[in-house]
Amino acid sequence: MLTKVLLKPRRAKPFWMGAPWVFDQSIERVKGTRNLADGDLVELRDHEGKKVGEGFYNSRSRISLRLIAWGEEVFDEALLVTRLRQAVALRREGLRLEEAGTTVYRLVHAEGDRLPGLVVDRVGGHLVMQIDCLGMTRFRDLIVSTLLEATGAEGLYERVSKMAREEEGIEAEEGLRAGAAAGGLLEVSECGLRFLVDVEQGQKTGFYADQRENRVFLAGLARGRRVLDAFSYTGAFGIHAGRAGAASVTAIDSSKPALENAERNVALNGITGWEGIAGNVLRVLDHQQKEGPRYDLVVLDPPKLVPRRSAHAKGLKLYREINAKGMGVLESGGILATCSCSGGVSEDDLREVVHEAARERSREIQEIWRGGQGPDHPAVPAHPDSRYLKFLVYRVI
Ligand code: SAH
Repeated sequence: MLTKVLLKPRRAKPFWMGAPWVFDQSIERVKGTRNLADGDLVELRDHEGKKVGEGFYNSRSRISLRLIAWGEEVFDEALLVTRLRQAVALRREGLRLEEAGTTVYRLVHAEGDRLPGLVVDRVGGHLVMQIDCLGMTRFRDLIVSTLLEATGAEGLYERVSKMAREEEGIEAEEGLRAGAAAGGLLEVSECGLRFLVDVEQGQKTGFYADQRENRVFLAGLARGRRVLDAFSYTGAFGIHAGRAGAASVTAIDSSKPALENAERNVALNGITGWEGIAGNVLRVLDHQQKEGPRYDLVVLDPPKLVPRRSAHAKGLKLYREINAKGMGVLESGGILATCSCSGGVSEDDLREVVHEAARERSREIQEIWRGGQGPDHPAVPAHPDSRYLKFLVYRVI
């Protein structure tokens, strides 16, 4: 029998609609905590005792309960295997990413695939997994064997995020979990372009596949333009632009290893006129605003600046500053593409800070495009945080 977690009155509605995260303030009480360990599967009930769903409990996490079954659904290993196979099928048969020359993509997108905290990327012939939900780590072996079987991958690496360690109490070591080691950098392709990915030392799972469609969109505007790829990581935006005929590409990132890898990617794709600058984007742009150069297309893709809602105001100020500085090096009539990957920042929040930045700089802006994470990063309607990536494109006069 599962331990029962009772909701306060009038708190159940989002969960009937499919919302996955239960926070402490919605919980009335937990019936029988004595036999309850962090990571256990529990049953969620409304205040009248009606079953709402099942999920993984964790008393030390910001998210007390992460649902994996809703309504009358019962969680068991068979349900887990079904969800994993459905996730693989969406990418392969549904989206046909591989047929389009893409071998780096998100195979499992956590709550978006109804698999709480489980992120898996396909990186060429290997898989890279990250588990951000303590309860899910108990099914690690089943998850690994199911994914290897469903994809035919050669090996699977596990990465452990700082958040998983600090907030969920996950203690796993990082490293190869199954199959053969990659033996250095893995070569992958995105829409036919070639990239080297460091699945052991790279950021997150090694490559930001969520920006694929946005890179393709910007490449369509890049021909003949001087492009600035700010917060470039391993250079993906700039390399798409370079291949599409950009006049020049300047990449800025504070991570030296990321820029070294970007240089290799540039060479691999035969791109000329590319330059990497190691440094803080804010400082480099201050300098360039005074001394030049100017650009015709600027991409701003900063890291998550609002990790939680309490950091909202401070984070928005930083987004505003970054966008103002981006406009400061942009030629009149140029294109500004700006991103936010913070779940706690809405598209309207981002739109507002860009407007403020434009007013501050006395620039006139027109919003010409909007995008988000690619289709291999599905979102669930009842969970706005799962639509985490915002991408807005402007003409700046
Ligand atoms: N645009 C990249 C992903 C960017 S991730 C892509 O398409 O692959 C964010 C990047 O910002 C990271 O590579 C990180 O090293 C870098 N970064 C974080 N803070 C920075 C700062 N203040 N100045 C320059 N780079 C920074």
